[in-house]
Amino acid sequence: MAVLITGGAGYIGSHMVLELVDAGEQVVVLDNLSTGFARAVAEEVPLIVGETGDQALVNRIIREYGIKAVIHFAASIVVPDSVANPLGYYRNNTSNSRALIECAVNGGVRDFIFSSTAAVYGNPGEVLVNEEAPTLPISPYGWSKLMTEIMLRDAGSAHGMRYAVLRYFNVAGADPAGRTGQSTAGATHLIKVAVETALGLRPKLEVFGTDYPTADGTCIRDYIHVGDLASAHCEALRQLRAGARSFTLNCGYGHGFSVRQVIEAVKRAAGVDFKVETAPRRPGDAAAIVADISRLRETLHWVPRYDDLATIVSHALAWERQLMARRVVAARHAKPA
Ligand code: UDP
Repeated sequence: MAVLITGGAGYIGSHMVLELVDAGEQVVVLDNLSTGFARAVAEEVPLIVGETGDQALVNRIIREYGIKAVIHFAASIVVPDSVANPLGYYRNNTSNSRALIECAVNGGVRDFIFSSTAAVYGNPGEVLVNEEAPTLPISPYGWSKLMTEIMLRDAGSAHGMRYAVLRYFNVAGADPAGRTGQSTAGATHLIKVAVETALGLRPKLEVFGTDYPTADGTCIRDYIHVGDLASAHCEALRQLRAGARSFTLNCGYGHGFSVRQVIEAVKRAAGVDFKVETAPRRPGDAAAIVADISRLRETLHWVPRYDDLATIVSHALAWERQLMARRVVAARHAKPA
């Protein structure tokens, strides 16, 4: 009775795999390796390379491995790309999810966890956002995720499949044991960009907007450690298996940091100064968005282990150093003798 993890070779998915393997669960990964890495998948875990929208393949996996639970991470996640290529996003995130949900329902999957996003709230009226806030995405990415939430809701009530929708705020950090982390080249997320700059991989960091109505003029976000996010999924799975009714939860820590605070934390952790320039606002950025996690705390018996910006940043830095070291080794091997 294995758990199927789609996108298990990606950043968050690979942490999820480790969390479940560490808990003694049997896991199978389905990933098309478009942005993920085979080496990110724990060795003992079967990795099937393919599309979540390939129903023949998914039906076979569900049958062969006796899948009773699905955790669905596989998705395209770059907001500006979704604006440039909405139909590609609706295909990969919405149509493929529809196909996957159908296979899950037909294959007798009991529990389904979906990786959603705070982007479903768009530009919320309040800084602290709870799950009842209006969902009004401002990008095709956000809509593509919201549509999947709606499909799950309706399929769940029609066919009795229990589901958990987890809306992530800003995910960062890496496995404290250094087994996996954020490996995507050209990543745009603040903490990843900042650690790359601290390690000299980028010449400078640009702060997108310094005239927001916040204490230091830069945007405020709720950064959650990827390990805590993975453990929240584990707990969600436990609840669903125990027969809990389907639920939708914000995943964050309930407090935020400004862009400048994050930059200072990275400089402190790395022990270096680096070039920071101010740049115009990035279109679509909300000034401040922080998760109201009352429901998360009530629903899950979840105690975060890494709710500390310095810890998040130090794990991200350690992972980035490891990536750099691997690149040096790979380059050495690639050199002709
Ligand atoms: N940001 C920035 N410079 C960067 C990357 C991000 O100033 O190089 C800012 C961005 O404008 C936002 C915050 O950092 O206010 C978090 O952005 P990120 O892309 O990490 O996550 P998002 O909140 O957009 O999902």
